[in-house]
Formats: sequence, structure tokens, C-alpha cells
Amino acid sequence: MKSTKIIYLDHAATTPLDSRVLEAMTPYFSDDFGNPSSFHTVGMRAKDAVSDARGTIARLLGAHEEEIIFTSGGTESDNLAVIGVPRYHAKALMEKTNALPHVITSAIEHHAVLEPLIAMDRKKEIELTIVGVNREGQVSVEDVVAAFKPNTVLVSIMTANNEIGTIQPIGDIGREILKWRKAKETVFPYLHTDACQATGYLDLNVEKSHVDLLTLNGSKMYGPKGIGALYVRKGVKIQPFFIGGGQERNIRSGTENVPGIVGLAKALALVQADREVESARLTILGGGYLVSRCGWNYVIDWLGLRLDFA
Ligand SMILES: *Cc1c(COP(=O)(O)O)cnc(C)c1O
Repeated sequence: MKSTKIIYLDHAATTPLDSRVLEAMTPYFSDDFGNPSSFHTVGMRAKDAVSDARGTIARLLGAHEEEIIFTSGGTESDNLAVIGVPRYHAKALMEKTNALPHVITSAIEHHAVLEPLIAMDRKKEIELTIVGVNREGQVSVEDVVAAFKPNTVLVSIMTANNEIGTIQPIGDIGREILKWRKAKETVFPYLHTDACQATGYLDLNVEKSHVDLLTLNGSKMYGPKGIGALYVRKGVKIQPFFIGGGQERNIRSGTENVPGIVGLAKALALVQADREVESARLTILGGGYLVSRCGWNYVIDWLGLRLDFA
């Protein structure tokens, strides 16, 4: 029988696990299997691992440790942001302004953002503005600003798109939001960005971009599947989905996925360390465009081929 070599060109859907990530995760399936909430040595070791991972991710985002909430992936992080934020503020907003929470998003968001927002809009739980994109798939900052209203609680625009790779002007949107808040003397709107497709290529610093909530997942950056995180800026309130043991500052109850969390931090540290070199390489492959999904250079390396594009 002839053997077939598979060339995998779908890294925007998911990436293989980096062997260094697997190595970091392995002890937490077996020897260090503890529950981080247990007060004995075995539990403490798991707790330390989660705490180290949280510290690593916080440092890479320019955030504080307590602002990182671990979740089951990109979908949960997105849902938590776009459902949890409007829900938390709905009652007070109705009492004060007699208005529903207003949310602004784009037409090309991942379904984990768009679908819950559309469903909430239909149920009259929120008021929704969906801004369009230009022929490159880019949102216009002016369109976003023009949609601001006194009851706008959240703007959710992804950092990089999962289908066409367009990078959105998140920093510019962040600056406009700060200006609006200052002029109106309000804490709203908050800015959420889904950065699942950006982790390997872009600077994720939340201070530079003025982002208040940021979605990450493991499966798009050579990390494990079924693990994600939501950065939640201090002071931003969210109504949780899972109620129970009070883990993750009461925002996400449930025993922590310790191996997944360790793997997420390791994967993010590895891709962020390489991001400038990797972006430059992919820019050449993309004919001068950094298209964030061009992970196929990885495949060429993996096959042991050396192609010189320079
Ligand atoms: C893959 C992806 C998600 C969903 O993440 P899961 O971990 O599969 O839940 C959300 N947003 C973007 C941009 C993605 O690429």
C-alpha cells in the first residue's frame, strides 16, 4: 500500500499540540493531579501551577493576575463577555435610563460572539448594532463611533478574523472609547476583543489597546483544545453562567482544568516569544500581507522541507 503524506493547511481551525506544551502539561494528568481548592500538599501543587500559569498569561497581556479567568475555550470566553456584561448591567440601566443595554459588534465576528448577540436582540434583552466591513473585511472606526449611545455597554470587535485573517484597528477603537467615556463621564462602553486568531502574531498588551475584555483559547496556538481564558479588566462586572464552588473569583465555578491551564500558558508564552519572527515569515508567504491564518509555514517545517521565499 502506498503511504500518503497529509499536508495540513487548516491552522485557523486548529493547530497541533506543540511537544513542549505537552511536556509541560503531562505531570498534571498524573503525579500532580490535585484539586487547586484542596488545602493539602497535593492540592497546593495544583494551585501553584494554576497561579504560575495565570501569572504568565497576565504578564504577556500586560494585565494583573486577578484579571485572568480560565474557561473551557474561545466560545465560553466570548459568550461570557457578550452575554455576561449586558446581563449584569441590564436592571440598573433600565431603572436609570429606561433603556436596554446596547451592544455594538461587527458583521464578521466569530459565531461565538454574533449568535448570542443576535439571539439576545431577538428576545429584546439587548439592543444591537452590527457594523459592516469594507472590501478587505475591515471595520471602520468612524462607523463604530457613530453607533455609540448613552446606553452602549459593550463594543465587541475581534482582533483578527478566523476566515480571512483581517486585523481590526482595536487600538484606535479603544482610544475612541476612552475619549467618549471621558466626555460623557461614564464607565461605558467596555471594549471586548476576540484575540483567538491573533495570539501567534500580534502584541496583545491590553494597556496599549485599551481593551477591557479579551478572549483567548489554546487550540489556535499549538496549545490544547477545550481551554481558554477571558481577560476581565478590574472593575468590569460580569454575570456568571456557572454557579458553584466560586472558583475564578466567582465568575467561573468548577474545578480548574489544571493540565489545560498549564498548557494554555505555555503555548501563549511560546507563540508570543516567536511572534515577530513568525509574523515576518508569514508576511512574505502572504505576498506582503500579514494574514493571521497563514500557519502553513509550520507544515513546511514539519515535513522537513526548507523553502526559501526571500
Ligand atoms: C476558534 C475560535 C473561537 C472558538 O474557540 P473554541 O475554543 O473552539 O471554543 C472563537 N473565536 C475565534 C476567532 C476562533 O478562531
